[in-house]
Amino acid sequence: MTAPVQAGPTSSSVGPVRPLTQQELAVLQYVSEGLTYLEIAERTGYSRNGVLKTSTRILRKLDAKSQAHAVFLACQAGILDPKRRHGDHAGFAAHQYRGEEPCDRCWDGEREYRRERRAARKANAA
Ligand SMILES: [Zn+2]
Repeated sequence: MTAPVQAGPTSSSVGPVRPLTQQELAVLQYVSEGLTYLEIAERTGYSRNGVLKTSTRILRKLDAKSQAHAVFLACQAGILDPKRRHGDHAGFAAHQYRGEEPCDRCWDGEREYRRERRAARKANAA
């Protein structure tokens, strides 16, 4: 059994906060490289069905509508990028996906992002 990861903030405005497991990250990485489920199964040693189930879990965790959407969201959050982004909302999200406590720079960027969102909502409502 894997150790439970600390739950992220409960604010619904933050978006998905359920971090991906190493297995899920590996599958998503292969998906982003264009591999089929069968090819991923061959590389990872999981069954094709196991890859399929993992993929379904990834979609659910990222709140993605398709594989392409999941890859897009993961890239946006810096999850699939070895050069981690820091200091903005995407960096903040990447920390959360990884089950980490966001660093100070990312917290600053996240606060800035929320401020802008609030200002935009106010402008729309006016
Ligand atoms: Zn950071």
